[in-house]
Amino acid sequence: MWKINHSYIDGAFVPVHGDETVECINPATEAVIGTVTLADRDDARRAIAAASRAQASMSRTSKAERIDMLKQLQAAVLASTNEIRDTAIEEYGAPLARAQWVSRYASQSFANAAQVLEHYELLRSVGDATVVMEPVGVSALFAPWNSTAGTICSKLASAIAAGCASVIKPSELSPLQTGVLAQALHRAGLPEGVFNILLGRGSDVGDEISTHPQVTKISFTGSTATGKLIARAGIETMKRVSLSLTGKSASIVLDDADLDTAIAQALNAAFMNNGQACVAGTRLLVPRTQAKHIIDRVKNLVGAMVVGNPRNPATVIGPLVNKAQFDRVQHYIRRGLAQGATLIAGGEGRPIGLDTGYFVRPTVFADVNNDMDIAQEEIFGPVLSIIPYDSQEQAIEIANASPYGLQAYVFSRQPQRARHLAARLQAGSVLINRITPELLAPFGGVKQSGVGREFGVHGLEAFLEAKSIVVDQDEPGE
Ligand code: NAD
Repeated sequence: MWKINHSYIDGAFVPVHGDETVECINPATEAVIGTVTLADRDDARRAIAAASRAQASMSRTSKAERIDMLKQLQAAVLASTNEIRDTAIEEYGAPLARAQWVSRYASQSFANAAQVLEHYELLRSVGDATVVMEPVGVSALFAPWNSTAGTICSKLASAIAAGCASVIKPSELSPLQTGVLAQALHRAGLPEGVFNILLGRGSDVGDEISTHPQVTKISFTGSTATGKLIARAGIETMKRVSLSLTGKSASIVLDDADLDTAIAQALNAAFMNNGQACVAGTRLLVPRTQAKHIIDRVKNLVGAMVVGNPRNPATVIGPLVNKAQFDRVQHYIRRGLAQGATLIAGGEGRPIGLDTGYFVRPTVFADVNNDMDIAQEEIFGPVLSIIPYDSQEQAIEIANASPYGLQAYVFSRQPQRARHLAARLQAGSVLINRITPELLAPFGGVKQSGVGREFGVHGLEAFLEAKSIVVDQDEPGE
């Protein structure tokens, strides 16, 4: 049994002041696997004070010192890759392959940030001015439950590269992953207070952090609804706010696509992380003339997907994170039926033989109209909507008719044609004939999918503030 009742503040694991204890449940078995005591506002204030003290010396660190810190963090997290993978499986049912990818990406984030910083000019000349890229200051890093280690490590890596101390607030639904990651980060041996980690509810710990005057930057990943609350809370003290939010991504199969690879990739995009991914391609746009053929192929492939124990390498879809998420998915399946979509795979209820655990049936609707709730709202489960289109122009219109714009996927045998289409899609990233991102390229959303970019140079600059110093050229003594 896990027992998590410490925060990580000022370089040490300290008992939590808060007194709310909640049970951790394995979503594949519904068994209680531990307890976590949540931090409160008092803990949050202590973490912010520690980060503020550390910020003074962090601001003075050289590029080389920051690169050393990043290398230490990379080595420490790399050594814990398997533990991070295993807790992601245990805590939210991540399928093995996904858990493996995320746990490797966690340590890689530090190597990427070190590489970016190495080539980044923190000091430049612009006309008469010297421009100094300074750390923005104490940063709050918020993570969602569906991508704990990856989100924390990529944000922390950019913050350290920029010279910022931070307060990290993962989701209260990820205590095990947070506990294991905190131990790994601690082993890197960084100076006290450079990063502090606490688990608590958004309504008190999250709110305390997003309103506290000593926090100058917020880097938030989570839902659009929470992002709006945080942006409003932060504006009172003019915090710099970066938001990576909800998605409802379109996968566009063009009429010249290689269907053998395109359909398989589009289904992977739709159902990745059990459908609980911000970048899930949950709207599949297909040429109407090929719709019947594509639907038949989708039906066969989805019917053959293994749903079950997330530790099994053959499993494509594990359980959803909790009962609330299970109920939410059931609601949307009923909504799709009520609004007239045609069910071609899956449906309400649990998969046959899986009576325990928050397992749902991978579900596909055809004949979906883009105005239906299942095409407009983020379901966050393995539910795919197939939407037919009559022309390439209409495919673009449908893809863009969404309040969100995080990522899009295009499948075509003509990369140049797909690039032209990409230029017209309202999305932060467009992936052509692939579903894996480039982790040094900027990542983020347009419209209600977010503000700002993470990763690479753009991720670093989100934690920097430019200062211009202009000296009178005729100044005596120059
Ligand atoms: P969430 O918005 O409920 O929570 C995210 C974080 O915000 C958690 O740490 C939570 O405790 C905290 N929080 C909640 N209320 C708060 C408040 N009032 N003040 C401050 N903090 C508060 O999101 P979630 O359910 O954990 O994650 C799923 C969502 O995240 C989905 O919408 C998904 O699309 C999105 N997401 C986006 C990306 C991206 O990069 N764009 C990546 C992963 C997940």
